[in-house]
Amino acid sequence: MALSRPAPQRYQLVETRLQERVGDGKTRCHLCLWRCGLKHGQRGFCQAHVNRYGTLYNLSYGILSAIDVGPIEAKPVRHFRPGTQVMSVGSYGCSFRCGGCHNLEISWGVTALDDLARGESTAAYVTPAELVAAAQRHGAQGIAFTYSEPAVWLEYVLDVADAAHAAGLYTVYVSNSFVTHEALALLPGKIDVLCSDIKSLDDAFYKDICQAARVSQVLDAIAEAHRLGIHVETRTNVIPGRNDDPDMLRAIATWVRDHLGADSPWHITRFFPAYKLVHLPATDGATLWRAHDVARAVGLTNVYVYDDKGCDCAQHNLPIAMYLDQDPSAVHAVKKCAESCCGDEGILLKKYETPRS
Ligand code: SF4
Ligand code: SF4
Repeated sequence: MALSRPAPQRYQLVETRLQERVGDGKTRCHLCLWRCGLKHGQRGFCQAHVNRYGTLYNLSYGILSAIDVGPIEAKPVRHFRPGTQVMSVGSYGCSFRCGGCHNLEISWGVTALDDLARGESTAAYVTPAELVAAAQRHGAQGIAFTYSEPAVWLEYVLDVADAAHAAGLYTVYVSNSFVTHEALALLPGKIDVLCSDIKSLDDAFYKDICQAARVSQVLDAIAEAHRLGIHVETRTNVIPGRNDDPDMLRAIATWVRDHLGADSPWHITRFFPAYKLVHLPATDGATLWRAHDVARAVGLTNVYVYDDKGCDCAQHNLPIAMYLDQDPSAVHAVKKCAESCCGDEGILLKKYETPRS
């Protein structure tokens, strides 16, 4: 398991928080439920963690793919510090591959993570202290980890959370909840709010976007976060023909009522066509309000409909250097891992040691 250490002042590989040597040359990552078992030179499903000589490292520590400031209600979170502003940040790497994901370059970031592995990235590097200072400069009262899956970036998320709390800011974690109990156990005292997707109650739906995922695992993680005392709100992005069956929406609302409480907020958002689901129409308002009505009928008291809002994956790459108020050429300098971090070979992996033609 990783040791506590000061946040690096410049880009370098950072040891993965939850790792275990399991024999046969493999080290297992326990951040999300993929629990990837990796050999030297291999990267996990998310592409953000790499095995170097038996130790797992996070490639994306301090690397921002997107940033924005707006109301906490847009996360969507409505029952925690309403009326406040939150700085949202995300990085490259996700544990899912949703057919309707809106910006694959930012949320999956396969090319960006390849560039980091090669030591050729110019993505913005930001220390936790710099990020908190930027949030304060822009009048935010909190920091939200969103746009992709924060569990695959947990080393940075936890360091930022500590710095944010020390500065009096709250923290929000927007997640698909395909996460381990071990990773959830690191959140109390650092993460104030979990806003989690419940995408469907159909295993086939989850299997389609993540071969390893099952509904029961996602629901169990959400319930565990609630048990740990984290403020939980849930969200379902209703997709025509995929998860808009009223019986299933009723079942989601019933699960929220029974496991999180009748007053637990449930957010219903509109699907907008993207990627593999570009052929589907946007969700019509009547479907969203039907979901609202079935949820109210089973006794959920705080049900919110968003006619204008989709899921929270990044829509476009916002001007990170501007938010940080720093010299763009410094923020976007080439990221090469310090030799003192992982040895003379730098971070180049076997797979990438041949120069690109
Ligand atoms: S965060 Fe998840 S997908 Fe990424 S390496 Fe760890 S277990 Fe695999
Ligand atoms: S929609 Fe969210 S959970 Fe799904 S692939 Fe995109 S960033 Fe990941």
